[in-house]
Amino acid sequence: MSEVTVVGLGEMGTAIAGALLEKGRNITVWNRTRAKAEGLAARDASAPSTAAEAIAVSPAVIICVTDYPASGEILSRSSLTALLQGKLVIQLSSGIPSEARQMGKFIELQGADYVDGAIFAWPRQIGTDAVILASGKPRALATARPLLDLLGEVAPIGEEIGGASALFSGALAYLAGHWIGFAHGARVCESEGLTAQLLGETLARIAPALGEDNLHMGRVVTHGRYEKPESRLRTAGNDIARLVDQAASAQLSTAFPEFATAIFRRAMEAGLGDEEHVAIAKILGPKPEIEV
Ligand code: NAP
Repeated sequence: MSEVTVVGLGEMGTAIAGALLEKGRNITVWNRTRAKAEGLAARDASAPSTAAEAIAVSPAVIICVTDYPASGEILSRSSLTALLQGKLVIQLSSGIPSEARQMGKFIELQGADYVDGAIFAWPRQIGTDAVILASGKPRALATARPLLDLLGEVAPIGEEIGGASALFSGALAYLAGHWIGFAHGARVCESEGLTAQLLGETLARIAPALGEDNLHMGRVVTHGRYEKPESRLRTAGNDIARLVDQAASAQLSTAFPEFATAIFRRAMEAGLGDEEHVAIAKILGPKPEIEV
């Protein structure tokens, strides 16, 4: 008897299926491009040729494809919807909260339980040190838990189905700055004869302080306490503005420093220069009332 069907065998789906096999689960797999199922079939996963056959044989389905539209395309096929009744669907594709809510409604309409998850890990971390956020109704979360526990450390986010995607989207916004910032910083260092590896090592040395800064920013924004900063928004804004000149003189793209400078400048023009750096949140959107 197959315990779970994994739909989607890209980098992440293959890691998920591999971890489940390694932990002794009987699994079924399906992928649009069939060749990607062959390695798992050789490791005793059942690999039928259609998604309907794969979904029919397990009480639970983990889907991990490119995005929600791709999941919707698979799960809304008329040959498939009736098969979902009474099953548990765990969505591990990434997306935004409105997509998660829409998917949740659709799955529940088919008579299935739904858990919306978000993976905070690289594929190689699945089954060892991945963090998986999970939103869903208590019964769905309780049924999903033994499976998700095999994949990583599970952080239940609650019943609001968009919660896991909301946190994923927030973290992705952070990572976008992190990745672009690192890449630009690497070119800055290289333009002065230093390696990107040295930049990576230097940032790793201050990683604990960066972790503290995230905790601090979270508290500051949550409680709206932007006054009495150790370092002012104006100080950082003026320093960042110098990066435009550095990039121009080293013939680097000025896109990232100009983007960052413009945001800090708008915040200073709004009178926030003496506040915490993260007071730029005030010009990025309204703050709704949230119960703390
Ligand atoms: P990937 O390697 O690009 O694989 C994408 C998968 O989606 C493939 O199995 C592909 O099938 C399938 N797919 C796409 N469109 C489809 C459609 N219309 N119908 C059927 N199947 C379709 O991506 P991945 O790295 O596995 O990522 C999967 C999800 O995990 C994404 O939402 C991603 O954001 C999330 N995630 C990934 C990572 C990571 O580091 N990789 C980390 C966290 C979260 P084919 O093989 O037939 O093309």
